[in-house]
Amino acid sequence: MRTAFISDIHANLDALETVLADIGRQETDRIVCLGDIVGYGPEPNPCVARVREVSKVTVVGNHDYAALGRIDTLGFNEYARAAAEWTASALDKDSIEFLGSLPLKTVLDGMHLVHASPLDPERWTYILSYQEAKRQLAAFPEQICFVGHSHLPIVVEEEGDEIRALPFSSDIPVRIHKDRRYLVNVGSVGQPRDRDPRCGYAWYDDEARAVMLRRLEYPIANVQKKIIDAGLPPFLAQRLADGV
Ligand code: ZN
Repeated sequence: MRTAFISDIHANLDALETVLADIGRQETDRIVCLGDIVGYGPEPNPCVARVREVSKVTVVGNHDYAALGRIDTLGFNEYARAAAEWTASALDKDSIEFLGSLPLKTVLDGMHLVHASPLDPERWTYILSYQEAKRQLAAFPEQICFVGHSHLPIVVEEEGDEIRALPFSSDIPVRIHKDRRYLVNVGSVGQPRDRDPRCGYAWYDDEARAVMLRRLEYPIANVQKKIIDAGLPPFLAQRLADGV
């Protein structure tokens, strides 16, 4: 079974459609969404509707929570806060209903799925060190966990007491060993932050035992114009071109 993982779409419909078209060409069997469908970008409702249509399983992200008013945005920077307020006022009834129905985490065929971190998912921890990765790997019993949140794609492999980051670059499959455990960050569809502005997603093939990161060009200028036209902070348009 080949599962595609989309995460951190952030209301960027152009990036989402680009990714979905590629998923259609990659012989995937199903799509999982790891949250942050909205926030930052100019088209929250169409993105929620598309995810609702194509995703088999979806978990909620912190920006989805913020748009629903479930967390306060004091911990957000000024751009994220402005975008969260804009998004909260833009969401329609169907989007609110769908986002409000999503779980914080779930398990699908032995894959642990959560937006930020398996340990205390509502704390929205960023997994940015080996120490944190080790703590998080101890927090779920399955062999493999897929996350988003940092917008930085990475595969962390645990073999006994050893832990390492595996090179995870576009179009080179990473091998998944039966007797090792994994934490995979699938990257971001709508706002990559690894200085590569191309939109990204990942797929996992549990028979081939491979994880693949895909990166694709998409019409960034279209989204930038929509961000400006919507009255969102211009910085949010600029950062898409910079991949930060
Ligand atoms: Zn995000």
